[in-house]
Amino acid sequence: MKHYLLAPGPTPVPARVLLAMAQPIIHHRTPQFSQIFAEAKEGLKWLFQTSQDVLMLAASGTGAMEAAVTNLFSPGEEVLVINGGKFGERWAKISGRYGLKVHELRVEWGKAVQPEAVAQTLERHSQIRGVLVQASETSTTVCHPVPEIAALTRQRDTLLIVDGITAVGVYDLPMDRLGIDVLVAGSQKALMLPPGLAFIALSERAWERVKTAQLPRFYFDLAKERENLTKDTTAWTPAISLIVGLREALAMLREEGLDQAFARQARQAAATRAAANALGLQLVAPDHPSPAATGIFVPAQVPGGKLVAYLRDRMGVTFAGGQDQFKGKIVRIAHLGFIDSFDTIVAIGALEMALRKFGCAVELGRGVGAAQQVLMAGLPE
Ligand SMILES: *Cc1c(COP(=O)(O)O)cnc(C)c1O
Repeated sequence: MKHYLLAPGPTPVPARVLLAMAQPIIHHRTPQFSQIFAEAKEGLKWLFQTSQDVLMLAASGTGAMEAAVTNLFSPGEEVLVINGGKFGERWAKISGRYGLKVHELRVEWGKAVQPEAVAQTLERHSQIRGVLVQASETSTTVCHPVPEIAALTRQRDTLLIVDGITAVGVYDLPMDRLGIDVLVAGSQKALMLPPGLAFIALSERAWERVKTAQLPRFYFDLAKERENLTKDTTAWTPAISLIVGLREALAMLREEGLDQAFARQARQAAATRAAANALGLQLVAPDHPSPAATGIFVPAQVPGGKLVAYLRDRMGVTFAGGQDQFKGKIVRIAHLGFIDSFDTIVAIGALEMALRKFGCAVELGRGVGAAQQVLMAGLPE
C-alpha cells in the first residue's frame, strides 16, 4: 500500500532532506560541522524573520516550550495562558509545574481568543509578567491573533511568548516586526524534518529577563546555548544528522521563497475548506482557521475514530483525529510542510470515499471539484 502522511506533525520529509541525513555521521566539534551549523543558523534567522539568534535544541517542540518557561521566570511569578486547546493547556501545565501563578484565559475550542479579553485580564492583574499563547492551536486548527496581542504586550513589562510550532514557515509571523519576545518552532512540522529538533529565539528584552529569572534549569540553559551558538556549536552533543537535514530543508525553502511557501500552504487550506463546504461538512474553525491544518466535523452518525483508522490502515491516508472533547468527532487534514496541491486532492478524494464507505450520502467528486477550483490559482501560466 502506498502511504500518504497528511497529519499536522510529523509531516512528510522530502527525498532531498532524507538523502542529506543519510550521509555518514561526522563529529560535531569540527570545522566541517560548524560550517553546516552556521548555514542552518543563518537560515533559521531568515525563517523566524529576526535579527536575534535562533537556538537549536535536541528535543521535540515541548522542550523549547519548557525552556521558555524555565529561562524567563522566577517561582511565584504571574503569567497569563491563552488556553483554547491541547497546546494552550500544555503552557498552563508547564507553568504550573514550575510554580508560576497561572491566570488562564479559557477559549471555547474552535474559537480564537478576543484581544479585548487579553487586554482586560492584563489590566486587572498588573503583576502578569508574561503571556503564553499558540499562534496556531493545532488541536482546534485555529489561529490566535498574535499581532493584536503583541500590540498589548509591547507597551508594558510583559513578555509575549509564542508557540509558533505550526506557524513558523506556514504563514507570515515576523518576530521582530511584531515584537514577539519568544518564538518557538519544531522540526517535524513546517520544517519538513523528522521530530527531534526544537528552535527558540528571544528578543532583547527577553534576554534581559533571562539574567534575573530564578527558575532552575540545566539541559535547557539558553544563555549557555547562546554562548556556544556564537562559536557555531551547541552546549551538548547536537542532533547532528537532523541539523544536516535542517540545512537542506532551509535551502529548499529559500529556493521556493518564503512568500511562495506561505501562499502554497494557504492555498491547500483554502481548497480543503472549500471542499468541506461543498460536501456540507462543518468546519471546526470557520472564523479564524489556521493554514497549517483544517479540522472538519464528521457527520454525527459516523464514528470519527474508526473513520480515521480506516483511512490510515485500509486506504493508506493518515489524517489526525480529534483529542479530548473532539475525540471521535473531527478529522484534521494537514497543509504544512512538504505538501502540495495533489496531496490535497488525495486527501479530499480519500475523505469522500471513506465517508461513502461509512454510509454517508456524499456525492463523489463534489469536494474534489471544489478543491480543484481553488487550486487552479496555483498553476503556473
Ligand atoms: C506539535 C506541536 C507542539 C509540540 O509537540 P511535540 O510533540 O513536543 O513536538 C507544540 N505546540 C503545537 C501548537 C504543536 O502543533
